Amino acid sequence: MIESNAKEMERIVTSKSVDPSQFENKLRPQAFDVFIGQTTIKDNLGIAIKAAKKRKEALDHILLHGAPGLGKTTLATIIAKESGVNIRITSGPALEKQGDVASIISNLQENDVLFIDEIHRLKPVVEEVLYTAMEDFGIDLIIGKGPSARTMRINLPKFTLIGATTKVSMLSSPLRDRFGNVFRLQFYTDGEIKQIILRSAKILNCKINDEAAEALSKSCRKTPRIANRLLKRCRDYAEVKDKTVIDMAILKDALKNLGIDELGLDHVDREVLSTIIEKFNGGPVGLNTLAAATGEEQDTIEDIYEPFLIQLGFLERTSRGRIATERAYEHLKTPFRLI
Ligand code: ADP
Repeated sequence: MIESNAKEMERIVTSKSVDPSQFENKLRPQAFDVFIGQTTIKDNLGIAIKAAKKRKEALDHILLHGAPGLGKTTLATIIAKESGVNIRITSGPALEKQGDVASIISNLQENDVLFIDEIHRLKPVVEEVLYTAMEDFGIDLIIGKGPSARTMRINLPKFTLIGATTKVSMLSSPLRDRFGNVFRLQFYTDGEIKQIILRSAKILNCKINDEAAEALSKSCRKTPRIANRLLKRCRDYAEVKDKTVIDMAILKDALKNLGIDELGLDHVDREVLSTIIEKFNGGPVGLNTLAAATGEEQDTIEDIYEPFLIQLGFLERTSRGRIATERAYEHLKTPFRLI
């Protein structure tokens, strides 16, 4: 039981779209007016799209960065839709050779969108070829080896690259500089998450009362993907208990069963904090040491757990390592000790 709960939690807090795509697709907003929050980004994108349409040109390249599940892929699909063009979706690790980039882009139509998720994970050779593709809409491929090698120029249609990343600092500056628009997605307010929950509940045809929606919004790590996942778990729980509406009683039981506390922390968050507090006297502790002590991967801690703990003010990143704050001690009900 404990083990299956742990697995369930990993699914809820994971960065990946592990739900069947149909479920994610159904809930994915298809237009700016149903995409909740991120108002400044939507306003800026709206203007850029209108201007590009008026000029009948491709939009400038766009870089979207922010924690997993905040809506980068969703925004990319909306941008393509509102621009009236097609979108081709791929990811940094999937592009292995220069030829992969050439073939994908040359199959695009004029002004289409190419979305590259996890763009910070591009191989250097692939990244290099992307520079000329983004700037000059052409690619110089070297054909053959040795003295008989020759360069072939491939002209590409004008396209818009939308790159998404959770680690903008890992992007090389030549690549970053080639994006005309750079947007950072923010965590959502509890009010916005509540709106997302109510919208998703309607689409999923499940009933949740206002009080429960409000309480659930506080446990979703300020992240739409988690909100949708938790709503789905609560719906399952209500169904099993033969309840037609998710109310406070169902919500409390469902979250308890999933090991999620009132702030949305799961067992890994609590383990990260309690490890720093108990094993390292509150820190500072280096990321590799923390990963080894908790049995989690460094990337997972850095990408998924840390941003939210920092946002809550439970963790601080310093040059000497990670430190648990007084608020973390209070939350874990451990007496605060000054080092
Ligand atoms: P990312 O690409 O940043 O990891 P996604 O775009 O895949 O995140 O979003 C995850 C899920 O959250 C989507 O399937 C969508 O249903 C939902 N979602 C994201 N942003 C919003 C939003 N602003 N309003 C409503 N739902 C959203």
